Amino acid sequence: MDRRSGAPYDLAVVGAGSAGLAGAVTASELGLSVALLDSSPQSGGQYYRHPATALGAVRPEALHHDWSAFTGLRRRLAESGVDHLAGHHVWSVVKEADGTWAVHALTGPDGNDGAPVRIRARALLLATGAYERQLPFPGWTLPGVVGAGGAQAMLKSGLVLPGRRVVVAGSGPLLLAVAASLSSAGARVPAVVEAAGYLRYARSPRALLANPRKAVEALVHGAALARHRVPVRLRGAVTAVHGTERVEAVTVSRLDRDWRPVPGTGRRIACDAVAVGHGLVPQIELATAVGCATRVLPDGTLGLALDGLQESSVPGLWAAGETGGVGGAELARTEGELAGRAVAARLLGRSGVAGPVAGLRRRRDRMRAFADVMSAAHAPGPGWSGWLTDDTDVCRCEEVPAGRVREAVAEFGARDARTVKLLTRAGMGWCQGRMCGTAVACLAAGGATPEPSPERRPLAVPVPLSTLAALDGATELSVDSST
Ligand SMILES: Cc1cc2nc3c(=O)[nH]c(=O)nc-3n(C[C@H](O)[C@H](O)[C@H](O)COP(=O)(O)OP(=O)(O)OC[C@H]3O[C@@H](n4cnc5c(N)ncnc54)[C@H](O)[C@@H]3O)c2cc1C
Repeated sequence: MDRRSGAPYDLAVVGAGSAGLAGAVTASELGLSVALLDSSPQSGGQYYRHPATALGAVRPEALHHDWSAFTGLRRRLAESGVDHLAGHHVWSVVKEADGTWAVHALTGPDGNDGAPVRIRARALLLATGAYERQLPFPGWTLPGVVGAGGAQAMLKSGLVLPGRRVVVAGSGPLLLAVAASLSSAGARVPAVVEAAGYLRYARSPRALLANPRKAVEALVHGAALARHRVPVRLRGAVTAVHGTERVEAVTVSRLDRDWRPVPGTGRRIACDAVAVGHGLVPQIELATAVGCATRVLPDGTLGLALDGLQESSVPGLWAAGETGGVGGAELARTEGELAGRAVAARLLGRSGVAGPVAGLRRRRDRMRAFADVMSAAHAPGPGWSGWLTDDTDVCRCEEVPAGRVREAVAEFGARDARTVKLLTRAGMGWCQGRMCGTAVACLAAGGATPEPSPERRPLAVPVPLSTLAALDGATELSVDSST
């Protein structure tokens, strides 16, 4: 069933990762007609990223924990009536005059096949996941520096390594998973460099005890690292990358409690690649463009504010998974199922939500509590910008160095990322500030904690002007001219 030009679906789900898959199959099994859109050619999202069939991987599950959870969802998807619209890049969602949602997408591997698609649905579930937070450092634009999640993605989907000797750095538990995968796949990992300490977790024993699976995950990664003799350095950071054509070595420095580099502690480590990431940022622009309320997460990022059944502040729009705060694939699945049940109850006019709702909510709350502890433990300290030299590019798209941002703050009085953008072009390039937004906001705040502001990107992915020009008059986009 494909309703691209006919009657609306009951539910459109954006994102076929753990959350979106669980939401789509649950709603479908409860009797709703469902469209599931994802920009990727395959389902699974970031966690269950796997090689394309053409690569002929014999054991696609080798790099995954909990692979059966994914194959279970994939089987249910195949058996359901869900229309899985792969390769659909959603650039906007709009509530139309008759109360239905219009979901605008472009098709093709990069969204550039030029075929605009509009799906209509009575309810919307956004499960668009997260992207990596990057804090710049001298040399981070050299070939060989990749995102930590990016390195994992290269390995999981392309079966390639970013280098032979890879330093893994930044902050967050993803670093352990990435280092374990890289070393198991044959790379030498001379060090995992974590900017935070792990003691912060010990301050929340209840959340730890309630989530023993997280301890098991940490032990599994720890054992893999021990097996491959990978040292983990806490309270450290890569403060410089060396090389001319590509990465040849890094300097790792000790950090104080505020992530300020301790002078005289730099040590050089030879490597040919660096995989670096400082946590994840919820990808919520489709939701904030239609006015969904947000909440500040313990690591200073913004997630969607959701009620007990995953509905946002905009009626008829639900969200699940990393969009509400980063917490892992199991939490995403639980929230997706909860949202699918809640949507079905609403659309089918039932007074209560069917199924094991109380249990799902308890599981969700337990895992969310752990996610908050994790988010607080790895929140960037205010001193990190101490490792930025004035000539380090902060915005790599527009090549704006830290010195120009500092000048905008010190000499022109800029106090927020938007004013810095207007003065320097930082954040105006292709990535629209996804890469430099955190850094620019921190520099603009001059050492104080920056006030996060909802990301306003009326177009979630690049869209040709011809597509915008072809929109009919009934479609009102919430385009904010200030962005
Ligand atoms: C780069 C990266 C690597 C990661 N690696 C690991 C790991 O190795 N181990 C681990 O435990 N956790 C990892 N995580 C975290 C883990 O992926 C999440 O906890 C889990 O996948 C959350 O599920 P989700 O459904 O919320 O989001 P995701 O699994 O991220 O799914 C979101 C889906 O939405 C789609 N999407 C987003 N925007 C659009 C749009 N505009 N149009 C159409 N489709 C869209 C994406 O293509 C994606 O398939 C990683 C996260 C990232 C960002």
